[in-house]
Amino acid sequence: MALPASINAHTAAQDEIVRLAGLRRVHLAMEWFRSHEPELRDWQLEVAAIPAPPFGESNRAHWLRARFAELGLQDVHVDKLGNVLGVRAGADASAKLVAVTAHIDTVFSAETPLNIRREGDRLCGAGISDNGAGIVGLLALASALRAADVGHTAGLLFIGNVGEEGEGDLRGMRHIFCESPWKDRIGPTVVLDGAAIDTVVTQALGSRRFQVTVQGPGGHSWSDFGVPNPIVVLSRAVARFSRTELPAEPKISTNVGVISGGTSVNSIPESATMRVDIRSASPQEMDRVERALREAVADVASDYPKRARNGAKGISYDIQSIGCRPAAELDTNARILHVIRAVDAHLGNRARPHRASTDANIPLSLGREAISIGAGGSGGGAHTLQEWFDPTGRDLGLKRVLLAVLALAGVK
Ligand SMILES: [Zn+2]
Repeated sequence: MALPASINAHTAAQDEIVRLAGLRRVHLAMEWFRSHEPELRDWQLEVAAIPAPPFGESNRAHWLRARFAELGLQDVHVDKLGNVLGVRAGADASAKLVAVTAHIDTVFSAETPLNIRREGDRLCGAGISDNGAGIVGLLALASALRAADVGHTAGLLFIGNVGEEGEGDLRGMRHIFCESPWKDRIGPTVVLDGAAIDTVVTQALGSRRFQVTVQGPGGHSWSDFGVPNPIVVLSRAVARFSRTELPAEPKISTNVGVISGGTSVNSIPESATMRVDIRSASPQEMDRVERALREAVADVASDYPKRARNGAKGISYDIQSIGCRPAAELDTNARILHVIRAVDAHLGNRARPHRASTDANIPLSLGREAISIGAGGSGGGAHTLQEWFDPTGRDLGLKRVLLAVLALAGVK
């Protein structure tokens, strides 16, 4: 009796991982991680101490470019967006490259005291794990392959990309996959983000972000009383939008995260602004809720005259997109998924599929195979000044990355 294709694919992936892990050079590469942990820690402390706010990653990019060059990668360069790239050539120059990526930006502004330090076995400070751990994962992989002289069929494209966090809006990955000369040369993509190895991100959580600005004539709270008040208009729009029905499945969330406007208690404000975030793995639901937001603002604004009685301007509004991350889902029969599951089975690692917004959103939304995983160790307090990373057991996470990448690239 013929087995279903997915079972065949899974068995084939498991056989391949067992064979790979038994190769002497691959074994040596896996041993490299544990014996070189002190160097990995030094790199992590060094890179995390270089500020890399959104749109200000260049110092960190130059640091990473120097490491890529030292590790013998080829064609090492910083592209026009600020992404750092380097290639480890494979035996077959025509094969699609396996991309291994880690974002180099942080959520912290240039002025934030990052306070990167060691505390006992832990590494501490803002950005130490997200994404100090991922960046070190790239360097560890390139180092171990070099030290053990492991050859592979497809080349590996190492990428330290900009613009993952917040208003970076995945601009680094968007450029690589939509515009750069590499866009058609990349096959599967493994994104390294943070530390934890108990999840595999296979569903790309999408988001759309808007800035809504309402403007009016403004005036004195007593003598101009009666002219429309943008804060009131905006508040009415928030109230209406917040009554939008949201299904439990597919899950969708909305958030009014920032609201501002006005100058003093006795002035009718000239403008009011809010920032809205909509998230879901379903593009259709996001379309519907985006429409609800636009209708709420338009409906409320239509209650006010465009011109005031004295000829002064009335209420106007503007809705600006300030972020758009595409939603998508990895095919359940994708080879990359069979590979990571086989690697986890081989290493005795339990990992569950996860939905999140990561750099993998871009390749996934283009129908490419991609996953986002952690680079080993453990961490916490991401996006806070209390962030920490514990390298205990990091080598397990790095072995996982190594085996998955080699299985995707092919080793004879
Ligand atoms: Zn991250």
